[in-house]
Amino acid sequence: MQEFLNYIGGERCPARSGAWLETVDPSTGQAWARIPASGAEDVDVAVQAAQRAFDSGAWTGLSSAERAAKLRAWADAVEASAEWLSEVETRDNGRPLRETRFAQIPGAAMQIRYLAGLAENLQGSTVDIRPGAFAYTRWEPVGVTALIIPWNGPLPVFFAKVAASLAAGNAIVVKPAQQATASILEATRLFDELGFPPGLVNVVSGRGSEVGDAIAGHPGIGKISFTGSTATGRSIMQRATVNIKNLLLELGGKSPNIVFADADLDAAVTGVSAGIFTPNAGQACVAGSRVLVDASIYDEFLERLAAHAASIEVGDPMDLSTGMGPIANEAQYETVRSYLRLGREEGARLVTGGHTTEELIKDGSPLRGGFYVDPTLFAVDDNRLRISQEEIFGPVAVALPFNSEEQAIELANDTPFGLAAGLWTKDLRRAHRVTDRLRAGNVWVNTYKAMHWALPFGGHKQSGNGGTANGSTALHEWMDPKAVWMNVG
Ligand code: NAD
Repeated sequence: MQEFLNYIGGERCPARSGAWLETVDPSTGQAWARIPASGAEDVDVAVQAAQRAFDSGAWTGLSSAERAAKLRAWADAVEASAEWLSEVETRDNGRPLRETRFAQIPGAAMQIRYLAGLAENLQGSTVDIRPGAFAYTRWEPVGVTALIIPWNGPLPVFFAKVAASLAAGNAIVVKPAQQATASILEATRLFDELGFPPGLVNVVSGRGSEVGDAIAGHPGIGKISFTGSTATGRSIMQRATVNIKNLLLELGGKSPNIVFADADLDAAVTGVSAGIFTPNAGQACVAGSRVLVDASIYDEFLERLAAHAASIEVGDPMDLSTGMGPIANEAQYETVRSYLRLGREEGARLVTGGHTTEELIKDGSPLRGGFYVDPTLFAVDDNRLRISQEEIFGPVAVALPFNSEEQAIELANDTPFGLAAGLWTKDLRRAHRVTDRLRAGNVWVNTYKAMHWALPFGGHKQSGNGGTANGSTALHEWMDPKAVWMNVG
């Protein structure tokens, strides 16, 4: 069994308690490696190392051009490591290799380069107050920051957020999800190779209730970027009151994907299917898990969507031809199975899917165990059902009919979440009208899940706290503004 170690102060070390956690390959259900089960004392040592790195000036003392050059060297190294890192990531969380290797890691390298450019272009402003006063603003690093990562996209979140925090001049303590830590611990090797200051980036592996909670309550950390569930976000907010931490919360979703009768239905079938099922079995915060369809095309559309879903190749995520991989871990597999049962109990009509690993193997699938659910579509007529309202985080869509544009908008907005929404129509005026009224941080028209580092990303309502990752202000999320007034008259 392989072993991965914490990365603290530039050193590799086990948890101070000596405790370990097993990490499981979700395509087989077998443990393949162990990672440190760290605790509050490890977090404390990492925060001290980060503070020392920040205070030393080895990073903050560089010019923005020097910092940017170092970040670009890191981006090149990330790109060159795509093959090796993607295999660790896919093994650990089951996201198909064709995405981790060919999309996510190359994309992360591009994003690091974009952030390096922002570091070089950081600007304050002068403000005309009155004669005799010279007033200006400047942006300053927070100091020691932290990043808490979910298991569904460890490396992309790690690269994007660490790069933004470093570009802003901070030091950082990172806590990966205990179900998918190995790839991040591996990726820290690049900091040694490139000679980043020890302690500038630290990674502490362990459970959320221990390492995550200790980070949320640590008085030495000024800022946390958290990506994960709304429930955990709420707990972090409460703990963060200890020193009034600055928080960037990117939380859950139950996003609507609306199909109007005038849409290009071929494109809509493919786009809606990719929005929820592929490549990583609906485990995307922005998954289009509520499919709202004009009643006049409802039956036809569901039939076509079901046929498309049933044609998706479910299998080994290491195989480049696989369309959809497994659920990333056993606990989430159990959660998805419980929603399959709930859907039936709530009277939803199962249109396609609903099978788990055992049933798929019985039906002749070559799976070797693991945590699989095939693409599942429920038809429902009630948006108040729990399967219509709660984030399932698996390859399970619910489809609801609507009778008017007004009703589509009402249904779309009728959940506590507001992360993303999609709509499919050929009518440009309708596209603008509906987009304006959707309460979501990201809206896609005639496409879905299209993301870019230059475009802000964040959630409305209980999907986030209004901050935005990505985009031209991404560095400001990791900095404190300072207003200066000088009397010069
Ligand atoms: P989670 O909230 O269970 O865990 C996320 C991270 O928080 C993990 O590292 C976990 O160990 C840690 N954590 C758990 N309890 C903690 C506590 N009490 N204090 C501090 N940290 C704690 O989420 P998950 O199950 O890993 O990921 C799935 C969720 O993440 C879904 O809700 C999904 O929508 C959301 N997500 C959101 C985005 C976004 O950008 N909005 C992106 C990806 C995932």
